[in-house]
Amino acid sequence: MPDAITTGQITPELAGGILTIDLNALRNNWLLLQNASRGAICSAVVKADAYGTGQDQAVATLAAAGCQTFFVAHAAEAFRARAAAPDAIIYMLNGLPPGTAQRIAASGVRPVLGSVAEIAEWRRDAGGAPAALHIDTGMSRLGLSATEAAAVASQGIGAGSGGGHDGVCLILSHFVSAEEPDSPLNDVHIARFTEMSRLFPGIAASLANSSGIMLPQQPHFELTRPGYALYGGNPTPGRVNPMHPVVKLECRIIQLRDVDAGATVGYNARWRAPAPSRIAVISLGYADGFSRRASVRNTGEPQPLAGGAAVVAGTLCPMAGMVSMDLIAIDISAVPHDDVVAGDMVTLIGGELDVDVVAQRLGTIGYEVLTSLGHRYARHYIGEAGATP
Ligand SMILES: *Cc1c(COP(=O)(O)O)cnc(C)c1O
Repeated sequence: MPDAITTGQITPELAGGILTIDLNALRNNWLLLQNASRGAICSAVVKADAYGTGQDQAVATLAAAGCQTFFVAHAAEAFRARAAAPDAIIYMLNGLPPGTAQRIAASGVRPVLGSVAEIAEWRRDAGGAPAALHIDTGMSRLGLSATEAAAVASQGIGAGSGGGHDGVCLILSHFVSAEEPDSPLNDVHIARFTEMSRLFPGIAASLANSSGIMLPQQPHFELTRPGYALYGGNPTPGRVNPMHPVVKLECRIIQLRDVDAGATVGYNARWRAPAPSRIAVISLGYADGFSRRASVRNTGEPQPLAGGAAVVAGTLCPMAGMVSMDLIAIDISAVPHDDVVAGDMVTLIGGELDVDVVAQRLGTIGYEVLTSLGHRYARHYIGEAGATP
C-alpha cells in the first residue's frame, strides 16, 4: 500500500480531517506486548474495526509481524479477518449465534462458547471443530458459572465423550478491573480462574487483556489477549504509557473570525466571549465520532468536564461552545495572530493530546474515543500493511 491518502479522489488539500494510522507503531506495540507476555503466546484483539484503526490493515500488519491468533466479537468481523490472514486462528468472542454451528465450523473460525446451550449445539453440529470456552469469574456477562463449568467438565471436555467431541482447545475469562493494579478483584479473578482451569487439564488458558499483561501477578497463562494497548492506549493508567502512539487526528481550519466581548458561539449560546476573542472553525463534528461531551460551556450550568481541545500552531486551545454535527469552534485567542491562517491543520488526537488525555477531558475512556472514530476522514496509513521490517 503506498504511503498516501487512500480515499479515492480526496487529496490532502481537499480533506476536512486526516486520520493517520501508524502501522509500524502497531507492529512495535505487538512486539512489546509479546515480550511482556513472557513466553505466553500473544494474540491480538481486532474487534470493532481494530478499535477504529482499520481491521484489514491491522490484521495484515500483525500477521506479518508473527501474530497467529486473532480475536473479534462478531461473525462478520471473523470472516473478514479470515480473508486478511488465511492461516491465522480466529476466535469470535461473542459466541455462537443459535443455529449457526455448521456454517461457523465450515468457515474455519472458532466461536468462544459462552453458555451451556452453545456448547451443546457445537458438540452436536460442529463435527469436533475447534472452539474456545468462556468461563465467568465475576463479569457476569458471558461464560459458564462455576457450577456450570463443573457440570460441563464432568461430562469430559475436549476429548470425545458421550455426546461427541466438542473441540474445546482454549478456556478464557476476562478481568473486570485489570487497569487498577491495586484492586483486590484482580487476585480474586486470578484465583477463581486458576481453580476453574483445573477442571480442564491439558487445555490452554487465557485471562489477560492489555492491562492484565502489565499486572505484577503476571497472569499470562498460555495466551494473552491485548487490544487497547496495541492501538497506543495506556495499559497502565496513571503511569508512563509504554506504548507507541498509533492514531493521529488532524482537522482543517475552514474559517477564522474575530468576535467581540459578549458575542456567543454555537448552538444555544452556551459560550460567551469573555473578551474580544479569535475563533477557529474546524471541519469536524459529532458526525465524525467526536462526542458532544467535548462541548465547552461558560454560560448556564457549570461545565462538568474540561471538554475538548486542539493543538493550534503549537498551543493547546479549548473548544468554544457546543459541538455541531460537522463543525467545532475553537478559542484560539492565545495563538499569536500571524501564526495561523485558514486552511491550516489543527491536532485533535496526537502529541500531548494522546487518546487517554482526550478521553479524560471528555469524561469517557480511550476505548470509546478510538472505536467512535468517524468515516469521513481521509485515512493515511504509515508503513506498509503486511510488509516485514
Ligand atoms: C475486548 C476484549 C479484550 C481486549 O481488551 P483490551 O482491554 O482492549 O486489551 C480481551 N478479551 C476480551 C474477552 C475482550 O472482550
